[in-house]
Amino acid sequence: MSELLLLSGGIDSIAIAAWLRPAQCLTIDYGQRPAAAEVDAASEVCRRLGLFHDVIRVPINELGSGALAGKPVSEFSSHEEFWPFRNQFLLTLGAMYAMPRSLNAVLIGTVQNDSRHADGSPVFLNQIADLVAQQEGGIAIVAPAIHLDTVELVKVSNVDPSLLGWAHSCHTSHVACGRCPGCNKHSEVMRVLGWEL
Ligand SMILES: [Zn+2]
Repeated sequence: MSELLLLSGGIDSIAIAAWLRPAQCLTIDYGQRPAAAEVDAASEVCRRLGLFHDVIRVPINELGSGALAGKPVSEFSSHEEFWPFRNQFLLTLGAMYAMPRSLNAVLIGTVQNDSRHADGSPVFLNQIADLVAQQEGGIAIVAPAIHLDTVELVKVSNVDPSLLGWAHSCHTSHVACGRCPGCNKHSEVMRVLGWEL
């Protein structure tokens, strides 16, 4: 199977890149505030792993909400990083990118804890996998870490700690704010792994 990985440059997708070494990695700048830092992190990780990396820009920040968009939190979620239909959008772009390049699977770095969002749940991922697979190209949507938490994923992946040092997790800025859910997760994972600076 020739796989495309949606690589955001966060801990989860970096660990999957190191673990599964996909044929192609893709970072999508959809207008999220930390896009530049995510692109830098993903580019450096791919350079170090010797993986092909590409970036596409499809800005939809006008349609975003919450911390990632620099807007008020959506009334439809209590989570400040919620962005409506984001995974549906990103997976669709991934499939659109994959098809003409003869890549037959799109990997997303969703982990167990992401099910706080409907589009991070196993039910959603199974349904969108069915939806995409029945269309031309028969592309598979795969979430290889859906049953793992981030610490388990890091351990399974055997990713080098120095590589995770490049991870960008902040939802609000190019520089880690230290306060958002992304930064909190990053700190907590590093603490549990004993990799704190
Ligand atoms: Zn932050």
